[in-house]
Amino acid sequence: MWWLRPVRRLRSVGARVYGGMHDPLDHVTGIEKRELLAHLAGDCDPFRIMAIKKGPGTRERPNLIPSAFCQRLLACRCCIHDNHLEYMWLHMGCLTRCGCGYWFLLCPVAPL
Ligand SMILES: [Zn+2]
Repeated sequence: MWWLRPVRRLRSVGARVYGGMHDPLDHVTGIEKRELLAHLAGDCDPFRIMAIKKGPGTRERPNLIPSAFCQRLLACRCCIHDNHLEYMWLHMGCLTRCGCGYWFLLCPVAPL
């Protein structure tokens, strides 16, 4: 009656598991591992590169752009009907106004 035994008995011996792939978390190192850990923690944008929806964008309430560095290149889609982006550099602590009238300010975040 050996054919009625569960397959699990054949796949594992002690702590090691045979016949399957290792956990990807054991293979990655460095920034790739930190990115994977951030994804596992629920942060779907650890590098802060996804598009940000513009808020009021006034001088008193500028759009906050996260950055782990002292400057960041920003692309603004000034008009929803435009097919191009306006690029500008943002510097930490300096309010910057796009040609469309929106104000932007860099917001420091911890590096990954
Ligand atoms: Zn703009």
